[in-house]
Amino acid sequence: MKQTVTLIPGDGIGPDVTEAAVRIIDAAGAAVEWDRQIAGITALEAALPPLPDETLESIRRNRVALKGPLTTPVGTGFRSINVALRKEFDLYANVRPARTLVPGGRYEDIDLVLIRENTEGLYVGVEHFIGMGDDPKAAAESVMIVTRYGAERIVRYAFEYAVQNGRKKVTLAHKANILKFTQGLFLDVGRKVAEEYAGRVEFEDRIIDATAMHLVLNPHQFDVLVMENMFGDILSDLMAGLVGGLGMAPGANIGRHAAIFEPVHGSAPDIAGQGIANPTATVLAGCMMLDHIGQGDVATRIRRALEKTIREGRVVTRDLGGTATTDEFADAVIAAL
Ligand code: NAD
Repeated sequence: MKQTVTLIPGDGIGPDVTEAAVRIIDAAGAAVEWDRQIAGITALEAALPPLPDETLESIRRNRVALKGPLTTPVGTGFRSINVALRKEFDLYANVRPARTLVPGGRYEDIDLVLIRENTEGLYVGVEHFIGMGDDPKAAAESVMIVTRYGAERIVRYAFEYAVQNGRKKVTLAHKANILKFTQGLFLDVGRKVAEEYAGRVEFEDRIIDATAMHLVLNPHQFDVLVMENMFGDILSDLMAGLVGGLGMAPGANIGRHAAIFEPVHGSAPDIAGQGIANPTATVLAGCMMLDHIGQGDVATRIRRALEKTIREGRVVTRDLGGTATTDEFADAVIAAL
């Protein structure tokens, strides 16, 4: 039986990288039927809202989606569709693995997973300007919200992930030294959850800024990392940099009723329309999706073909030092399958 999956190509390089991923996933023999939907700037250009009802309905129906990046206007304009999707489906866990595929990088054999809280923190969007005198934007205020419920379920998710994937340690990164209430609550809850896993999964907590430095100095000391929303957003890009850049980093947004898989990177306006983006992150997101729907054997075949193509280094995209286009790279991976 084929599983129907919502496919949102996205903006900028999105259509190129998702099309490459679809070709590879289909060629690998996955039992998947694609239900194509639009969102973001692409939807606006079709005179629809940035998050059309039909797209939401499709995700609600299929409960699984693969999406390309969606452009969010900076400073003004509509709010992030990515954040809206995470809120709509309560996709509270953002799982971002960073694993070495490219040899000869700064480090070899990196295998880290960052679990980011995806619905709370500063990204709840509770913010406003404060007017003073004749300046309506004299100050601005954003509210960071951390709930016991939200903190508990994300830390528990991290520990369960560790247990199910044979991981040894969970590091909780925080800023409880300064933000004693919000970050203090997150840490407090984390320590309590950790006690339940004592003897099975090692636990440590670290201050976020020092964690960033230690990740760069010696990433091998970490295993699974868990943190609130914005810290996770920033550190997952840092971790992508440790394994060859944003073109290599996939992510999964997991909730109880739906899951959306996507590359960590954005719509890359600087290279959009040139057909040169690296589709690896989206293909790896597709592999996480296949694992999720019980087609892990197909995912393993795709990962092997990807790894072989990248390690050989003959047909790779520009960000990996090659000259191949997105399509040529996808063809090479299909040939390696
Ligand atoms: P970006 O990730 O789009 O690009 C950062 C840099 O990485 C650029 O130089 C780009 O060329 C490069 N890059 C990214 N993906 C690549 C790939 N697959 N292959 C080769 N190079 C790649 O970040 P940005 O420029 O800050 O953001 C652009 C837009 O994307 C913004 O509107 C932002 O809001 C949005 N965005 C969306 C998502 C999402 O949909 N989940 C995530 C991040 C950013």
